[in-house]
Amino acid sequence: MNFVYSALPMRVVFGAGSLASLPEEVEKIGLDRVLVLCGPRQEAVGKQVAAALGARCVGLLPEATMHVPVEVARRARAVAAEAGADGCVAVGGGSAIGLGKAIALEQGLPVVAVPTTYAGSEMTPVWGLTENGVKRTGRDRKVLPAAVVYDPSLTLSMPVGLAVTSGINAMAHAAEGLYAPDGSPIVSLMAREGLRALTAALPAIVADPGDADARADALYGAWLCGAVLGATTMGLHHKLCHTLGGTLDLPHAETHTVVLPHVLAYNGGSPDGRTLWQLEGELGAPRSLRDLGMAAGDIDRIAELVAGADFPNPRPVTAGDVRDLLHAAWAGTAPPG
Ligand code: NAD
Repeated sequence: MNFVYSALPMRVVFGAGSLASLPEEVEKIGLDRVLVLCGPRQEAVGKQVAAALGARCVGLLPEATMHVPVEVARRARAVAAEAGADGCVAVGGGSAIGLGKAIALEQGLPVVAVPTTYAGSEMTPVWGLTENGVKRTGRDRKVLPAAVVYDPSLTLSMPVGLAVTSGINAMAHAAEGLYAPDGSPIVSLMAREGLRALTAALPAIVADPGDADARADALYGAWLCGAVLGATTMGLHHKLCHTLGGTLDLPHAETHTVVLPHVLAYNGGSPDGRTLWQLEGELGAPRSLRDLGMAAGDIDRIAELVAGADFPNPRPVTAGDVRDLLHAAWAGTAPPG
């Protein structure tokens, strides 16, 4: 057995009601003047966080947008500088946390993340910025949040549809971590446990959206899956989803949900692609790229882009393979069993 594992330095506080510990967490890092970031649809929770921080909060910017457009990042950096902020608290999904990372990347301000979806960005040193429709990503330890406060109560407001697709988005990190070239025994443990927790929690959330235990289990699973994402290099599935999202502006979590069973079937991954596709049907999840707004005419272009890209994958990938896979994902047909 040979492996390399680098642990990422971060503090995680988990539990219903843990938002109350945010001021203490911010203080531990030595921050006195934090800017709170959130998306426009989550301004209420942003205000709740700002109020909890009291005098330590110097502003609230409810402008986080999917894929961090550079204009939004520039404005956020200017607001942070003007307010004399010495750190940020990003509350929301991957978009809000991505905005905190964009500030950290240039200004070096520490980020405290309060995730409200299962996307997992809070556990990774990966940043992304979009300019003229092109998304650039990179890795930099500077953008890794200094602390993460996971309060499952904040996820209760996630509509069931988003909880399901965001949960499957998280499962994708774990599934690809299991065959990543830079995986390790500890990563596999986290990946299996994350998959187990989400596979059990998502049907329970669909059955009863108010089930606080299921919401907590799902967030726990998402944390582990996010840690796998932060520790490994992703393969065909993530390359395909980023290309679909970046080129065609398809919605992030839904795209992951449709594509994952097909890639797992192609790679022979775990969970089994056909089994996941069936589970998605039971959960009422989207299973067709056509339904997400993709035109059939875009399949060839995406297949060429993905086949020409550089990424690790357990099975070699040709443009023809990606085309076949995309045809099935586009039409919503079952992957091979
Ligand atoms: P998001 O942050 O855009 O949130 C989706 C929508 O759900 C938004 O309208 C938001 O306001 C709403 N929302 C979030 N939490 C809610 C809640 N608890 N209740 C009600 N509504 C809620 O989407 P996302 O899927 O969390 O993140 C996607 C973005 O994150 C993409 O840009 C993706 O590239 C990025 N991402 C980056 C990394 C990384 O490591 N850098 C990892 C994962 C995702």
